[in-house]
Amino acid sequence: MNKKTIFDLNQNDIENKKVLIRVDFNVPIDDNKNITDDTRIKAALETINYLRDNNAKIILSAHFGRPKGKVNPDFSLKPIVEEFNKITGYNCTLAPDCIGEEVEKMISEMKNQDIILLENVRFHKEETDNDPEFAKKLASLADLYVNDAFGAAHRAHASTEGVAKHLPAYAGALMKKEIEFLSQTVENPKRPFVAIIGGAKVSTKLSVLKNLVKKVDKLLIGGGMAYTFFKALGLEIGKSLCEDDLIEEAKEFLEAIKNEKTEVVFPVDNIIAQDIKEGTETKVVAFNEIPADWEGLDIGPKTQEMFIEKLQGAKTIVWNGPVGLFEISTFAEGTNAIAKVVAESGAVTIIGGGDSISAIKKAGLSDKITHMSTGGGASLEMLEGKELPGLAALLDT
Ligand code: AMP
Repeated sequence: MNKKTIFDLNQNDIENKKVLIRVDFNVPIDDNKNITDDTRIKAALETINYLRDNNAKIILSAHFGRPKGKVNPDFSLKPIVEEFNKITGYNCTLAPDCIGEEVEKMISEMKNQDIILLENVRFHKEETDNDPEFAKKLASLADLYVNDAFGAAHRAHASTEGVAKHLPAYAGALMKKEIEFLSQTVENPKRPFVAIIGGAKVSTKLSVLKNLVKKVDKLLIGGGMAYTFFKALGLEIGKSLCEDDLIEEAKEFLEAIKNEKTEVVFPVDNIIAQDIKEGTETKVVAFNEIPADWEGLDIGPKTQEMFIEKLQGAKTIVWNGPVGLFEISTFAEGTNAIAKVVAESGAVTIIGGGDSISAIKKAGLSDKITHMSTGGGASLEMLEGKELPGLAALLDT
């Protein structure tokens, strides 16, 4: 990685210093404010512990949800600080805001190894506006800045990008790991390199497909987005998901891949249904046989077999997006089969996107995956070959 990380700092650079660490604590939460997945909190601990063990004063900044620039108790980080303390046994205090006199006073009273979590940075509209004055105020709280929020690194916000202009700025351990896996593996993969891209929307994945088709040996395309391509080929897709405004681009992609060496594989059959509900009647039909009032909701058995065969012998596998509407078990078979094969492949496996990760977790296969990215949007942008503003702003090596 061509960015300085916390491991480039000497103990003297850290000891007694106030370190502002941008973390990604944007965890899923249920109606009773229970955190349903604490992966992101746990993933930030390596950086926090490293700096704490080196006697820094730790100031954490984070966002949670989309409070749209206004204070809203529903988006307070209170449940998160409670969970953080439960996991770590630390006594991290939640500041009432992320800037201002009260926060400054709390920080001035900190001892080495103390930890403060600043309240949701998105309670200020200036955060998402990347307002320079706001960024300066955040920076004034600390001596050093560490960005460990890979999941927010694709956003040029004040706490991810603006602040780095005013402080010596380093990547945290999680950021380093994410970048190394996602960029170096994609740039220098062990081959054969196979990518499976699924999900609902072509609009969010087309740039990924365009970039990956130049890098991988095989590109397997499944999920709802496959139907926009089928429609682009002039096929009947019934009520299946389709983004009509992307049909032209889908056609261009299909045309462009004719000149690529990469094998691009689309489903050959589908599980179809007339309504989206558990246990509903389903049929298996070929890709070009979807009746007008039916909807494609999973890959069919032939496609499953074909995808599994294409994954055999792969040395690197990137998977982003389910190949069916897997939240409903009637349409989850394809995604579950992919999860199992990816996990047991013995390849370097990189999973991005909340849905594919949740399929892996549900199947109890997490420990067989080389790297599960904590950032859906950020990992997609990396797969698109884009530069992440939150990373670009850090010190170069
Ligand atoms: P994305 O956010 O684009 O990765 O899409 C993820 C969503 O795509 C999941 O909620 C899946 O249920 C959904 N999905 C995948 N395949 C299909 C399909 N064939 N029809 C409807 N939804 C699908």
